[in-house]
Amino acid sequence: MTSSAEWQTTACILCSINCGLQVQVEDGHLKKIKGDKNNPRSRGYTCEKPARLDHYQNHQDRLTSPLRRRADGSFEAISWDTAIEEVASKLAAIRDTHGGEKIFYYGGGGQGNHLGGAYSGATRRALGMRYASNALAQEKTGEFWVERQMFGGRPEPDFEHAEVSVFVGKNPWQSHGFERARVVLKQIAKDPERSMIVIDPRRTETAELADVFLQVIPGMDAFVLAAMLAVLVQEDLIDRDFLSARAGDGQALFDVLAAVPVADYCARAGVAEALVRRAAEMIAGAGSVAVVEDLGIEMAPHSTLNSYLQKLLYTLTGNFGRAGTMNLGTHLAQLIGSSKDNRTSPVGGHRIITGLIPCNVVADEILTDHPDRFRAMIIESGNPVHSLADSPRMREALEALELVVVIDVAITETTQYADYILPGASQYEKIEATFFGGGFPDNVFQLRQPLFEPLGDTLPEPEIHSRLCRALGAYNDEDLTILREAAAESREKFALTFLETMASQPKLAAIMPVVLYETLGRTLGEGQAPAALIWGACQTLANSEPDSVRRAGFEGEGPALGDALFDAILSRPEGVLITSDPYEVTFDRIHTDDGRIELLIPELLQELSDLIDEAPPASNDAFPFVLAAGERRTSTANTIYRDPNWRKKDRSGSLRISPGDAERIGVETGGRVRVTTKRGTAIAIVEVNDSLRDGHVTLPNGYGVAYPDENGVRVVHGIAPNELTSSEDRDWIAGTPWHKHVRARVEALG
Ligand code: SF4
Repeated sequence: MTSSAEWQTTACILCSINCGLQVQVEDGHLKKIKGDKNNPRSRGYTCEKPARLDHYQNHQDRLTSPLRRRADGSFEAISWDTAIEEVASKLAAIRDTHGGEKIFYYGGGGQGNHLGGAYSGATRRALGMRYASNALAQEKTGEFWVERQMFGGRPEPDFEHAEVSVFVGKNPWQSHGFERARVVLKQIAKDPERSMIVIDPRRTETAELADVFLQVIPGMDAFVLAAMLAVLVQEDLIDRDFLSARAGDGQALFDVLAAVPVADYCARAGVAEALVRRAAEMIAGAGSVAVVEDLGIEMAPHSTLNSYLQKLLYTLTGNFGRAGTMNLGTHLAQLIGSSKDNRTSPVGGHRIITGLIPCNVVADEILTDHPDRFRAMIIESGNPVHSLADSPRMREALEALELVVVIDVAITETTQYADYILPGASQYEKIEATFFGGGFPDNVFQLRQPLFEPLGDTLPEPEIHSRLCRALGAYNDEDLTILREAAAESREKFALTFLETMASQPKLAAIMPVVLYETLGRTLGEGQAPAALIWGACQTLANSEPDSVRRAGFEGEGPALGDALFDAILSRPEGVLITSDPYEVTFDRIHTDDGRIELLIPELLQELSDLIDEAPPASNDAFPFVLAAGERRTSTANTIYRDPNWRKKDRSGSLRISPGDAERIGVETGGRVRVTTKRGTAIAIVEVNDSLRDGHVTLPNGYGVAYPDENGVRVVHGIAPNELTSSEDRDWIAGTPWHKHVRARVEALG
């Protein structure tokens, strides 16, 4: 495992696509990296970013031992036994004094590490914790909320086969979001039978390839989307046969859209009416249309409404349940909480969507005298100080807590505020997987094998959670004897015993992941125990979607079908086709109350209706620019790349500004400006860039990370976007922040 000139199989962990990789390792380093042609999803594809993955695996900020904060704020190394015992007893004390629901969980994984978060469920239940959040709750929860109501599932776009592809606030050239994105984009651009529509305030790399590019004024996406839908209704271009067969009543929606003044909305959005009409007619006239949105509209005004309108574009035109359109696939494991979770946050009463409290209210749920405030936090594979809006307030919130426990691979902006740091093995030092998955008609899952031994005294997160649960008294060896004996006898015997135990012993059912880990997991071979949870997921999938699993080539009845799937996942580290579906299965997966697509969401219908009276954005002399805080570029990745040397260009993360604005404020490329928002100020280096509209400036994501220089002094490289954002600027339904629409002032410095 330590050194080999042989190619080994793994995956990129820098975005949700997790392209398959082949790597050569030497002396603890990733020496050679290339796309894995055997990966059934990515088929050899990568972008340029994974070539530098050794900067993730090896850097100065890797943690190597459990750490405990001293009274003076410094940290001391402690043993795992001490760390587990003290963390468990302090968390238990908070539970016993204030209630387990006062301990808040944040994180659970990044782009390629979801096994640890899956095991955290056991620790959380052992402590009686009820509330959680992660970065999805500042990006996707508005979209989830809409999808739950319209479809009861999450439709996936089929861009490989779409005649018309639509990207709304999305630049897949840089942010990917679907397999082999750049290959697919280039194929669409070259094919005269296919076309592309892009709605974005910036002329992105994707927009450069588009047939129709609607360069919307930042924050006015809802107006351009409403105008497109209005054209469909007013010109009677909707697919009435599809809607009458598959959807519920939509008359109230059609009435609102019939009244939309298309020309006025286009003018307000800053796009040519003729182009908007052309885009709508292209969608209506195409044999197949696939649509995707991203942070450009999700982190902007009318965020959740934007998601609703985007989905109506393909629904009203019948682009659903066919090749090249939108389809509902399978999932080996659900990454997000229950879609039926209708709770609200304990202090502010904010809507909890798919189990997640809005990120933007986390600090508010701590910094208060309210008796239900959070008192402690477990933060796992997350960096809320850097990634959530209003970093200064997040720091204040962490300081106000009675206990902060961080589980992570590296020192981060958040570990500085921990009372205990429990060091995880890196994503290449343990068996690991992502549950982002998806894929339709074929769905693939990859369980990655470790490439290296865990560094120093680090542990895989499933082992950390197992130890915490034991220390909390959630189980002991005696509890597991029957299951261990069954696992040693046969998988069949284990399956039966496991089901009986889960049904009869709620105490063990509550910590099911750890029970699997400590029983079946211990029979799977060295380092393989975390895969035990995947066995459970395989059984669930084989039980709920047996035909889909069989179409992927697996045989067996009952638990044997799940076992066949699990064995294939264990034995094929390059990834396995787990389900395969005909397109019409999509309609069986609409899980609304009546099995039909819901067209009417009352809150959003009202917001759509109210657009007509919305005052135009007022000129703002104090903050005349709109800053997009967190643009994806070639030089950006998430902050698991802590060493700034991974970047070859744009080390400081320049502020992009239009030529007109640059001239007006008197700055050139390479010049310095002060960026000021109502929350903070920063000095940036300028890049004059003609892809932007006047009045629009952008800063990249992933910058503003502190890293030791050659003298060991921690130096911040670039601007951390959330030093400039405010938590109160958020969507009224989902609480998603307006990071793409931050009012700012930009002044040239001499
Ligand atoms: S597309 Fe995403 S997963 Fe694939 S190589 Fe690029 S960053 Fe990695």
